[in-house]
Amino acid sequence: MITVTGWGHTKKANVERIAPSKIEEIQEVISNSPPKSLIARGLGRSYGDAAQNNRASIIELSNFKKISLNIFEKTVTAEAGVSFDELLKYLIPKGYFLPVTPGTKHITVGGAIAADIHGKNHHIDGSFGNHIKSIVLIDGKGILKQLFPDQNNQSNSALEFWATVSGMGLTGIIIEATFSVIPIKSSLIKVDTFKYKSLENIMDTMIKNDEKYKYSVAWIDSLHPKGRGVITFGEHALVEDINTKTNKEKLEYSNKSIAKAPNIFPSGLLNVFTVRAFNEAWYRKYPNQKENQIISIGEYFYPLDGIDNWNNIYGKKGFIQYQFVVPDNSSEIIPESLSTLRELGAPSFLTVLKRFGFNNPGLLSFPSKGWTLAIDIPASLPNLTLTLNKLDEKISDAGGKIYLAKDSRMSPEIFRLCYPKLKEWQKIKNILDPDNKFSSDLSKRLAI
Ligand SMILES: Cc1cc2nc3c(=O)[nH]c(=O)nc-3n(C[C@H](O)[C@H](O)[C@H](O)COP(=O)(O)OP(=O)(O)OC[C@H]3O[C@@H](n4cnc5c(N)ncnc54)[C@H](O)[C@@H]3O)c2cc1C
Repeated sequence: MITVTGWGHTKKANVERIAPSKIEEIQEVISNSPPKSLIARGLGRSYGDAAQNNRASIIELSNFKKISLNIFEKTVTAEAGVSFDELLKYLIPKGYFLPVTPGTKHITVGGAIAADIHGKNHHIDGSFGNHIKSIVLIDGKGILKQLFPDQNNQSNSALEFWATVSGMGLTGIIIEATFSVIPIKSSLIKVDTFKYKSLENIMDTMIKNDEKYKYSVAWIDSLHPKGRGVITFGEHALVEDINTKTNKEKLEYSNKSIAKAPNIFPSGLLNVFTVRAFNEAWYRKYPNQKENQIISIGEYFYPLDGIDNWNNIYGKKGFIQYQFVVPDNSSEIIPESLSTLRELGAPSFLTVLKRFGFNNPGLLSFPSKGWTLAIDIPASLPNLTLTLNKLDEKISDAGGKIYLAKDSRMSPEIFRLCYPKLKEWQKIKNILDPDNKFSSDLSKRLAI
């Protein structure tokens, strides 16, 4: 038995860890397990309770690490235990990049599919599920099957595919997937930066540039009354964009972290005063406008990976990452929620705003057209639960959603309002896992 938590460290689970080496072993484990006793776990980067199952078992695919590239189809076939870090190390020197990547490279292929992760390019390219050609799954009956996404085909395979993409591990164990990769000419990103004194200007500029840039993200100073911040738009740099004297790096990949957060951090160090000072310094660090700056893939996509275990800075009680999406016609919820959390005194140095494009058929998929805001908040903040419950209502009334991969506290009622395709998903879950073998602390909390 070991103790595991999500990245936010809010809830512990005592679990039996199973790390099979062969497909047959997984099938045997599934056949011999009682209901509600299994859940897959990747690298535990979901913030809440999705990848744990208290007093039951987690299955880790740490022995499933094969990768192969098909340069004619521009696709990769990777086993579910392969991390994005390992994929980047393999792909970048060959001139390819991932179609979608989150803000950390320490996630697995299995975790990326189960959460249908999104990146800074959702407004252009959709989420990870949009790029998957096929998935190999072992379902709750122990049957090994290959699933395809054909969106016009209402065959069971397509429905099972879209119930597994975004299914949070509850339809079975993903063993392998084939997905497209994108050719790149360099491992550098060309960045245009714009700093604004108000959230209104930031949102205006992001909307106007929806089609211009592949990657788009804004950091918001959540403690500032006007919600000032910095937008960084990005594109993969072409060879002609690079000044080879200053940027020798071409198709190289570096995954070095620069520091490690200690295991025990003094509680109370993160408060409105320290975070306000940090945000001030962070805001000042940027020029008002800078174009064509060339930076590495790591600097643009994974700045937080530079500090190992940075989640420790929230101390013993941990933190919540509150991430929601609202449609464009309810964009006022973005400034309203920021001002509600500011009034509460939520000290967040990591508040990120992104644009989403259209949703895919993933039955529990999070992204849909509009705005998504992610804000880190210490779990010990007084009155946090009540405040977030009220925000949940506002978001679900507006047709928005709370992200399952970040959630550790939403109620079953709000979940049902946010995810109207749940009944459809449940029908497929019953076909794939009739004895309900797969279950997690998240699925129990949300009564899925
Ligand atoms: C710093 C940071 C930044 C992030 N940025 C983003 C972002 O920009 N966009 C975004 O979408 N997410 C983001 N995330 C969240 C992260 O991408 C997802 O939570 C992802 O699912 C984590 O993958 P993992 O391998 O760690 O999976 P885990 O957290 O271990 O598991 C997540 C879910 O996947 C399921 N799962 C894992 N492996 C399998 C498998 N083999 N078969 C079936 N199910 C499986 C688990 O059961 C669980 O439900 C971020 C997380 C961090 C820590």
